Amino acid sequence: MPRRQTYGVQIRYRANTVNIGHGAPVVVQSMTNTDTADVDATVRQVMALADAGSELVRMTVNTPEAAQAVPSIRERLDAAGYDVPLVGDFHYNGHLLLMQYAECAQALSKYRINPGNVGQGAKRDLHFAEMIEVACRYDRPVRIGVNWGSLDQGLLERLMDENARRTKPWPVQSVMYEALISSAIESADRAVQWGLPADHIVLSCKVSGVQDLIAVYRELSRRCRYALHLGLTEAGVGSKGIVASVAALSVLLQEGIGDTIRISLTPGPGEPRTKEVVVAQELLQTIGLRNFIPMVVSCPGCGRTSSDLFQKLADNTQNFLREQMPDWKRRFPGVETMRVAVMGCIVNGPGESRHADIGISLPGRGESPAVPVFADGKKTATLRGDDIDRQFQQMIVDYVESRFGKKLTD
Ligand code: SF4
Repeated sequence: MPRRQTYGVQIRYRANTVNIGHGAPVVVQSMTNTDTADVDATVRQVMALADAGSELVRMTVNTPEAAQAVPSIRERLDAAGYDVPLVGDFHYNGHLLLMQYAECAQALSKYRINPGNVGQGAKRDLHFAEMIEVACRYDRPVRIGVNWGSLDQGLLERLMDENARRTKPWPVQSVMYEALISSAIESADRAVQWGLPADHIVLSCKVSGVQDLIAVYRELSRRCRYALHLGLTEAGVGSKGIVASVAALSVLLQEGIGDTIRISLTPGPGEPRTKEVVVAQELLQTIGLRNFIPMVVSCPGCGRTSSDLFQKLADNTQNFLREQMPDWKRRFPGVETMRVAVMGCIVNGPGESRHADIGISLPGRGESPAVPVFADGKKTATLRGDDIDRQFQQMIVDYVESRFGKKLTD
């Protein structure tokens, strides 16, 4: 399915330019959950998210203290060599913070504005216009992000009244969809009238239901050419949050809809914030839209699997690959497309390992304790001993150097 044609938006910070829309690869972004006023904690988390592969990092800017902290966060990131663009998330008082804290407005590379949370009645237009004026002044792109939970109530009432006058009124759900879509497009069109170029606007209409999200974005994409930010809001915790996000986003991405994504997971206790980046990358890579890290193909294991060595090996291998990527990405172009197999027994092990670039097939219950390794479809070694994990990692390193290292001198 070809990608939907949109305006192309550039988010710039120094030499780093992130392109959204107009055929650019789908961008992965994330959001911090630290108190933005806590500079140390926020800098640490932005670095972790950027290291995990987040191409944009958003943070809430909700108080004067947070607005004052933003330039310090930017400086600390610069000093540490991080040029990831920062996005400010504004609600209620965004117009005041952007106008009163010019250094904050300039340290941010993009602003997120929720048109449902910028005030009521005439003040709503005024506050929204003030934020757009700041964006125009500093040449910053804006995401106009409408959310199911903070929909513009005036607009919803107007559409409900119009619906009541129809001969055949629409279902309430359709009116809600229309309110979300109209709020996003009307706000964007107004921003364009006030001088913000259309290629400085990204739209989102976030809802928490999978079918709602698919219906809303299909219609939104049909009715405008603005670049689109996809995400299921309040997706939930653990596997439920991941499944819901992936179910919704993969349908839309498969239809060519969506130019940047964020996976909004509620982190479980002790879970790193970076998980939302890992899930976003795995989603895009699994459906074939982008490559980020070599993927491990592993079988689920069964009664033939002789020990937990197999599970540990699969897990350690994937973690090992992820850890190597910051260095490998620079030294071994194309390594992110590599496929690695870790299999549990002779039934599918050798076959799947031959299909991978490099694969290992552990002995199942009752098999001889020898571990064949395959590279480019051929058996290249048989491992034995109690440090199979380390031996296999070394073989992966050797394979990467010999196959992808050559490209540097080609
Ligand atoms: S490859 Fe072997 S261990 Fe893995 S699921 Fe299949 S039969 Fe079970």
